[in-house]
Amino acid sequence: MSVQETAQTVRVEIARQKYRQLLVLIDQDVARVRAHPAVRPCPATCRDCCQSGALLPLAPLELEPMLDALERFPAALQRAVLERAAQAAWRLEAAGIAPETAAIDPLGEASALLDDRPEGRCPFLIGGVCSVYPDRPPICRVWGAPLWNGRSVDCCPKTCREKAFAVRDAVDYLDYWQKVRLLSESFGNATKEPMAFLLLRRWKERGHPLPWEEPTPSG
Ligand code: SF4
Ligand code: SF4
Repeated sequence: MSVQETAQTVRVEIARQKYRQLLVLIDQDVARVRAHPAVRPCPATCRDCCQSGALLPLAPLELEPMLDALERFPAALQRAVLERAAQAAWRLEAAGIAPETAAIDPLGEASALLDDRPEGRCPFLIGGVCSVYPDRPPICRVWGAPLWNGRSVDCCPKTCREKAFAVRDAVDYLDYWQKVRLLSESFGNATKEPMAFLLLRRWKERGHPLPWEEPTPSG
């Protein structure tokens, strides 16, 4: 391994570690914000955030802990996750929608294609439960708390209906994304990609075949 390759490997590992530390800080901040008496807990059965997860734009670094978890899943569960992502990707590709277009979806075509379809859900939503809950990305951790986006404080209407929140009472998501973006640059790529495409690509880049592409034993 060359000196440059060694240096990049170290940079990537440091970015992964700092990203993990950032997730802990985000959880602490979300707990602070959600303790506000005007913030309600999410209804136990609500999974609305995850219903369009196939298109959730993520930077590759954000997917890393989820991929680590997926590698530990039993084979049948791995297959279920990957098949759901593949069905979403195939549907978009068949309509001529490229990953970079789906990531911003300017005309809402990608969303319209996947709306209310099983493959439109987050591939990690299994049996109505997030199968990578401890490893989920920042956006999944902060959603449901009042969020400062640099212009206004937004909030899920189911959790913070009746109050306008001050910026100090909100999670500064913009700041967290800037931190993730900087770490992603050290990781080697800060471009966001829809979860379904990114998951399939990174799974293969880690050296895993997709289950339906695995060679069958001969004889
Ligand atoms: S990672 Fe988990 S919380 Fe986030 S969209 Fe997927 S299932 Fe939902
Ligand atoms: S943030 Fe809103 S939509 Fe998401 S799970 Fe909570 S209540 Fe449901």
